Amino acid sequence: MIYADHAATTALSPKARDAMQPFLEDAYGNPSTLYSLAREPRRAVLHSREIIAAAIHANPNEVYFTSGGTEADNWAIKGTAFRYSMGKEIITDAIEHHAVLNSCAALSRIGYKTTILPVDSNGIVSSDSIKTAISQNTAIASIMLANNEIGTIEPIQVLTDIAHQAGAIFHTDAVQAIGHIPVNVNELQVDMLSASAHKFNGPKGVGFLYVRSGIALLPLLDGGGQEHGMRGGTENVAGIVGMATALQEHIEHIERDAAYLQNLSSRLITQLKQHELDFLINGSNQRIPGSLSLSFKGADGEMLLHRLDLMGTAIATGSACNSKETELSHVIQAIQVPQKYANGTIRITFGIDNTVEDADTIAEQIARILYR
Ligand code: PLP
Repeated sequence: MIYADHAATTALSPKARDAMQPFLEDAYGNPSTLYSLAREPRRAVLHSREIIAAAIHANPNEVYFTSGGTEADNWAIKGTAFRYSMGKEIITDAIEHHAVLNSCAALSRIGYKTTILPVDSNGIVSSDSIKTAISQNTAIASIMLANNEIGTIEPIQVLTDIAHQAGAIFHTDAVQAIGHIPVNVNELQVDMLSASAHKFNGPKGVGFLYVRSGIALLPLLDGGGQEHGMRGGTENVAGIVGMATALQEHIEHIERDAAYLQNLSSRLITQLKQHELDFLINGSNQRIPGSLSLSFKGADGEMLLHRLDLMGTAIATGSACNSKETELSHVIQAIQVPQKYANGTIRITFGIDNTVEDADTIAEQIARILYR
């Protein structure tokens, strides 16, 4: 089988699995308790927080563990909105993940005004559009670092600057970026940033929210005093340890892996061109390495997915998180892929276990399906 859907999820790294093992077995103590059985898990959570903070150039007390990217996005947006009375404004854009879009929609239903910025044909949010939309009344702007369908990397630094000039908080969903491109919260100047472990070979159901110190955020999950009283709930110790181990592993090889993945993408494109297929490459040139959204003229993306599946290759059409929908994804609609191509959109996202042969095979399989 060829797995080429790494933007949907990734396999657990053996190193992360080994690091998690003790906390699934003997070291099962609750980190909040006072006896010695808790010492090891407590230390492991502390150490993991340090590793993660170092990976994004933050301080450990600015990292809060969550159940994944969805919770981190919900928390950043709703936890900011909860600080204000109704009538404040939120800014986001048309190609965000539904964790962001639906958090904004939920707040709109109780009186917040949400402005959804358009994107250009590459999926870029322009500085002009945010300048026009932002006001003193804007509580938060949430723009993703990298898109999960087309891989486009947004010009976050420029956008953050504009948000700060208007006095707004800036959050970025970095779920697709962390572990794949260098992320430095100080260079980006973001106030909050979401991440999810299963996108970088960590376990599922764990992630984190970076919150710059001094940013006033209210809890989303009220409960015990965990996470400095900001996120109630007994810590997912094994998950947190697995996430830190996997992230550290990714960061160590980030440049080498990026070059390797970039090469696989280029190889696939070259091969598809050699097969003389008519297709568009979606997204900007500044993309997550190994991430390709392709629209084949006159084709049906869902048919391609199923035929490739029968041939042993796993890819996506639209977004994995809404793969039950048969309509064009909101991202493909927002970047206005020409009608003759839009229905034939598939997403191929390589990982470091993929080979050049995989890229060649996928190109050949697509050609076979489309020529038939
Ligand atoms: N944000 C983006 C950009 C994503 O791609 C995803 C998952 O696909 C999420 C958020 C949600 O993350 P999680 O699966 O950890 O809830």
